[in-house]
Amino acid sequence: MKVFKIVCLFIIILLVQSACVSKKEVQKKNEPEKETIIEETVNEEKVVVKKEEKKKELPQKVKVLKKADDEISLLFIGDFMGHMDQIKAAYNKKTKTYEYDSCFSKIKPILSDADVTLGNLEVTLGVKPYSGYPQFSSPPSYASAIKNAGVDILTTSNNHSCDKRKKGVERTIHVLDSLNIGHTGTFISAVEKTKNPAYVIHKNNFKIAVISYTYGTNGLKPTAPNVVNYLKKETIKSDVTYINSSISPDQIIAFVHWGDQYKDLPNKSQKDMFAYFKSLGVNIVIGAHPHVLQPMEWHKATKENEQESLVVYSLGNFVSHQRTFPRDGGAVFKLWLKKGADNKVKIKKADYFLTWVHEPVVSGNKEYYVLPADAYTSKPETFTRKKDYDKMMRYVKHARKLLGEHNKNINEYTK
Ligand SMILES: [Zn+2]
Repeated sequence: MKVFKIVCLFIIILLVQSACVSKKEVQKKNEPEKETIIEETVNEEKVVVKKEEKKKELPQKVKVLKKADDEISLLFIGDFMGHMDQIKAAYNKKTKTYEYDSCFSKIKPILSDADVTLGNLEVTLGVKPYSGYPQFSSPPSYASAIKNAGVDILTTSNNHSCDKRKKGVERTIHVLDSLNIGHTGTFISAVEKTKNPAYVIHKNNFKIAVISYTYGTNGLKPTAPNVVNYLKKETIKSDVTYINSSISPDQIIAFVHWGDQYKDLPNKSQKDMFAYFKSLGVNIVIGAHPHVLQPMEWHKATKENEQESLVVYSLGNFVSHQRTFPRDGGAVFKLWLKKGADNKVKIKKADYFLTWVHEPVVSGNKEYYVLPADAYTSKPETFTRKKDYDKMMRYVKHARKLLGEHNKNINEYTK
């Protein structure tokens, strides 16, 4: 009887198995054969990949993604000036074009070494005849060379915004748009400003709004309907409120044109304005205009004050024909931001890098080169005139002393 039961069970198992097989075969017959096979293979592969990721690769992938997604590096440059000597030096008599690329050839690796690079364009573009001080207009090729050097965004609100009146404001914007260079600070009209009240950086999972203001425009007011962003508390407040409600950025950074020319230290109005930006939640402010360096401060969060903040009072001239010490050099400022698990943006690191403008005369023609200053301190032989090397060294010594004494938590980095 026991044997009979076992045999019966065996037969039942066989019958069930054969039924299953025939069911599968029916399904295969009813569906297109190739598709079924592909689908199964794809599904199998997917399953296998998923399993492997879960088992081995997932922790590593999460780590890589986190690194790429929650950090961003930003590089800030001071004033791109455009004196007549620079325009003449850029002119190629043979091709009858203006060529600026060589000016940035030695600093390009530094400018390109960031997720986003921003600077202040202190000239108007494209209004002929091209002119230097006091009312600047440079060829559009100046902006293309700046872009080729690694700059992504230019601020256009400064005391020279209206140098060439309406034509200058509008042509500058059109040139930058045509070259696909991001910009903010001046606008064709109030309607355009409402559409783009800030330049918004979308990168590495960050949404950063850049705003730009100037203390004035040398007495030349913008012509309607053009708009220039002035450093006025009521304007800034309404802009920040509107940007927060319409864009909801992770971070707002203000790039401002302020301060006393040729002064090593910030004035009271710069300090007051920095405090005002902070009161609006804009805790990162980068400045330029004095044509010389001014200190940089990173106020880290404390128990008493949880809001960290950072100000660079002046980055100085990045390129100009101002040869008087210490207007002949500047600094670029590098900022690393980090997004925490709570989605809040924090400053991870902040450093500066010194630059110096070399103006050698080659075959009777003046040339311009922005040098990575530290690298050239050990290369006196590359200067045809010893006095140029000595000038650079004087600038570097001064900058290191000034920033060494007055900076807070921000040090020089070298390459
Ligand atoms: Zn200025």
